[in-house]
Amino acid sequence: MSEVQWKDDRRTVWNRKILNFYWAVVLISLFVELATLFIASRYQTFGEDKILVETMIPFTLQLIIVGSCEFVIRQLKRESPYLIILTGTALSTILIIFNETVDGIKYLLLLPMIISLFFDKQRKLVFALATNAIVIAAFYTFNPELLKLDNTYGLLSYTLVMLGAFFILYNLLKRGKEITNHLSKSIKSEQDMLIRSVIMDRQTKFDALTDLYNHKTFHEYLDHLLIQSDKYELSLQLAIIDIDNFKHVNDTYGHAVGDVILRRVSGVIKESILSPDDITARYGGEEFAVIFTDKTLEQAYGTIEQIRTQIGAKRHPEMNDKTVTVSIGLASYRYGSGKAAIFSEADSLLYAAKRSGKNQTITELQDTAV
Ligand code: GH3
Ligand code: MG
Ligand code: MG
Repeated sequence: MSEVQWKDDRRTVWNRKILNFYWAVVLISLFVELATLFIASRYQTFGEDKILVETMIPFTLQLIIVGSCEFVIRQLKRESPYLIILTGTALSTILIIFNETVDGIKYLLLLPMIISLFFDKQRKLVFALATNAIVIAAFYTFNPELLKLDNTYGLLSYTLVMLGAFFILYNLLKRGKEITNHLSKSIKSEQDMLIRSVIMDRQTKFDALTDLYNHKTFHEYLDHLLIQSDKYELSLQLAIIDIDNFKHVNDTYGHAVGDVILRRVSGVIKESILSPDDITARYGGEEFAVIFTDKTLEQAYGTIEQIRTQIGAKRHPEMNDKTVTVSIGLASYRYGSGKAAIFSEADSLLYAAKRSGKNQTITELQDTAV
C-alpha cells in the first residue's frame, strides 16, 4: 500500500469516527432536552409550542447539518476537513442558540477547534478559531441583548479562554509534528543502517570484480557442505578452473583487458551453474572453484565440460577477437577424507590438465575410462 493511499484510508477512518461523534451529540442533546422538559413538566404545564421550539426545531436543524455533512462525504465522496470542522461549528452554534440561558454554553465552540486537531494541520486550527470569532460576532450583532447580558468582563474572559485554548492546541500540534519528524528520521537512519549492513555483508561475501563468492565464503560453504556430506553420505564434487596462459593476456593486452576477460569468464561460469545447490567462487587471481552438491560425477563433468567449451568459444574484441581457454581439475569427495584431500586431488588433476596440453578437464573419470 502506498503512503498516500494509507493516509487516505486513515483519514476516512477518522472522518467516520468524527461523524459518529456528531450523531451521538445530536441524539444526546435531544435526549437531554426531552428529559429536561419531562422533569420541568411536573412543576408546570407547557404548550406544544414550547416543545416544538425547544426540542424539535434544534433537533431538526442538527439532523440537517450532520445529515448534509454525511451526504457530502458518503455520496459525493468529498472528504474535506473544512467541512467536518464547519459541521462542528454549526452543531455547537445550534446548541448555543437554543440553550442561551445555560452558563458557559458558548465554550462549546471549543469543540470544532479540538476536532481540527485530528487533521494534524495548524491551518485547520486557525480556520476553526476564525469561524468561532465570526459566529460570536454574529451572535452579538443579531442579538444585542446578549452583549448587555454578558458584559465586558464575560466577553473578555471568553476571548482569553479561546485564545489560550488556541495557543495550547497550536503548540500541541507543533510538538506532535516534532515527534513525528523525529520518529521518521530515526526510522530512516535505521533503514540506512540496514542497507549499509546488507552492502557490507555483500562486500565480505562476494568478490568485487566478478561478483562471485570470494575465497573466504567459498571455504565457509565447503566446510559446511563437507560436514553434511560426511553425515548423510551426500555426493559432492569440487572443480578448480584455471585460465590458461593468463599472464600472457595481461602482458599482451594490459591488466585492464585482463580484468574484462576475468569478468567474462566468470559470467559464463555463473550462467552455466543453474542449480541453487551448487556454489561458484573466485578462488584466487585467475582461478575459479565450483562445488557440486546435487549431481553424480558424470553430471558434474557434463556441466564443467559445457563451461569449458563455452569459455573456449567466446571471442574477445579487446583481444582482437581471440579466445581464452581454461583447464579444469574435477575431484569427487570420498566420505570422511576431509577438505585437504579433495583439494589436493582437484589440484593434482588441474596440474595434470595443464601438463597434458591445457584446455581440458581431468577427473577421476579418465582413470576409470568414462
Ligand atoms: P597457466 O596456463 O599455467 O595457468 O599460466 P598462467 O599465465 O595463467 O598462470 P600464472 O600463474 O603464471 O599467471 C597468472 C596471472 O594472472 C598472473 C597475474 O598477473 C594474473 N592475475 C591474477 N589476478 C588478476 C586480476 O585480478 N586481474 C588481472 N588482470 N590479472 C590477474
Ligand atoms: Mg593460476
Ligand atoms: Mg592460469
